[in-house]
Amino acid sequence: MTIKWYPGHMGTAQKKIAELIRTVDVIIEVLDARLPAASANHPLAALRRNKPCIKVLNKNDLADPAVTRAWVRAFERESGVRALPLSAKKPREVQQVIKQCLLLAPNRGKPGRTLRALVVGIPNVGKSTLINSLAGKCLAKVGDRPAITTCGQQIELGNNIILLDTPGLLWPDLRNQVAASRLAASGAIGSAAFDYTNVGLFAAEFMMQRYPDMLRSRYRLTDLPDSAAALLEQVGRRLGCLAAGGEIDLHRAAEAFLRELRAGKLGRVSFEEPEEEAGISSQANGELQEMLRVPVSEKG
Ligand code: GDP
Repeated sequence: MTIKWYPGHMGTAQKKIAELIRTVDVIIEVLDARLPAASANHPLAALRRNKPCIKVLNKNDLADPAVTRAWVRAFERESGVRALPLSAKKPREVQQVIKQCLLLAPNRGKPGRTLRALVVGIPNVGKSTLINSLAGKCLAKVGDRPAITTCGQQIELGNNIILLDTPGLLWPDLRNQVAASRLAASGAIGSAAFDYTNVGLFAAEFMMQRYPDMLRSRYRLTDLPDSAAALLEQVGRRLGCLAAGGEIDLHRAAEAFLRELRAGKLGRVSFEEPEEEAGISSQANGELQEMLRVPVSEKG
């Protein structure tokens, strides 16, 4: 399976981000708490230089709390970085972002010394939701589909703080197919770019290895089947994903399984842990790698 979704204007976008970074006091980098490495834009680390940065681990309501705590510890080893798990949909949690901005730029946020913060992140991590919550009103379009926001804006929060929005400027790196599969499983990549069945199998395999009890409890399974395909079949049967003739429709089963997983119906799931960050492509998880290379139809 190859996931392709990579717009061609990277160079220009990076220059634009670098220019914007020079004009701000703080960077608010929004990541998906379930996959903080795969949802990062890696060139940003170099562009940031020493600028103070808040890494917002958004969608914390969907992520595994223990894994998120590990990510916070890992991120805060970097100088000038604060990590903040939250849900952008919860205005009270979002206010922490302002507090942290003021701590990172203590001489700003006063009359005549406006604090400027740049909100960055790949599509679908929740930038618009966060900005709307911070502004207390609906300014940015919030999309169920990735990459729906397209125009930049400057938002005055009214307390000597200005947010700069950068929709459509940063993208994930999809050359790493494990990272790409995690993004697809989480819902960050538009469905036109991947095959549901393959991503469903990837997610099923991952859940069997990492969160088997969630599968047992959600789908009332006493024993887990011995393959991801067999698991999807059982899930499909339970959710009524039948093709003509009463067979299980694996594509529909994968779609339904991913829908449940993304909505947090199985529980709070994280797709990656900080230890893996250095080498997600070379992890010793041969089966997942294999699954990504071999199209389902050839697996027999
Ligand atoms: P953007 O492309 O980065 O601006 O992302 P959006 O703000 O448009 O959000 C993408 C999707 O994620 C939307 O369906 C939001 O409702 C959803 N979303 C954003 N923040 C959260 C959150 O904290 N928790 C959950 N569960 N969903 C969120």
